Amino acid sequence: MLRKILRFLLFGILAIALLVGGFFLYGLSLVRKLPWQSPVFDTERPADPGVIGPKGVLVFSKTNGFRHESIEPGIAAIKALGNQRGWQVVSTEDGAFFNDDYLKRFKVVVWLSTTGDVLTSDQEKSFERFIESGGGYVGLHAACDTEYDWAWYDRAVGTHFRDHSIFPHTPEAILRVEDKQNPATAGMPDSWKHADEWYNFKTNPRKSPGVHVLMNVDESTYDVGETKGMGGDHPISWTHDVGQGRVFYTAIGHTPETFQQPLSLQHLAGGITWAGRF
Ligand SMILES: [Zn+2]
Repeated sequence: MLRKILRFLLFGILAIALLVGGFFLYGLSLVRKLPWQSPVFDTERPADPGVIGPKGVLVFSKTNGFRHESIEPGIAAIKALGNQRGWQVVSTEDGAFFNDDYLKRFKVVVWLSTTGDVLTSDQEKSFERFIESGGGYVGLHAACDTEYDWAWYDRAVGTHFRDHSIFPHTPEAILRVEDKQNPATAGMPDSWKHADEWYNFKTNPRKSPGVHVLMNVDESTYDVGETKGMGGDHPISWTHDVGQGRVFYTAIGHTPETFQQPLSLQHLAGGITWAGRF
């Protein structure tokens, strides 16, 4: 009898441990690359993209960590915006696209919820040259959950992802527009409601040299959950001049719905327009 109870208890404890462990790993996989997910690098040159046109937009969505469901809707939305506005949109998940010859055919490279370590150091150098000599960067959502060990990238974007809450995961909150001049926020109401996964950053980008905040999320309008938030001042979108180039980042874009909502699309289209000087 005692042995039976002991065995029952042991199985019970084991089941609970597995459940808790699985839950923990699931939570962790939402924010971090797990140790056994080693990055994949592309070194062979992909097919030549040919002549692109004067408003070339390259959408890069390679993931070496968490993969967002919003990537495919995001690509479709940027292609649709491109059709309306006369941009030539090419999408790739191939890091080998980052060579001087291919990059110079584009005005803007959009990092669409990329994650983890996605480029080799040669590819990184090509992208640095592209931006420093006048190219445009648009970082969407997990673009700041990418390339933690590339110091130039951290400086260019202005910070990196720190965490987000899981309970609640994508609450509705009020965004407050700080800049009415930049095309990414021009013509917007002073504030608007949006549901998203609200990223907290390692450092406040407002304090990064040269960073100009366009919009913040009002922390008093949603529950920061188990995180500490950003202590009240919570930039969510900003610009940064890097060399001759232009950097635009927005943290919105976790949910597929983001890429159907008129204000989010206006924000995205304006960001691309500004970064590409279109
Ligand atoms: Zn997300």
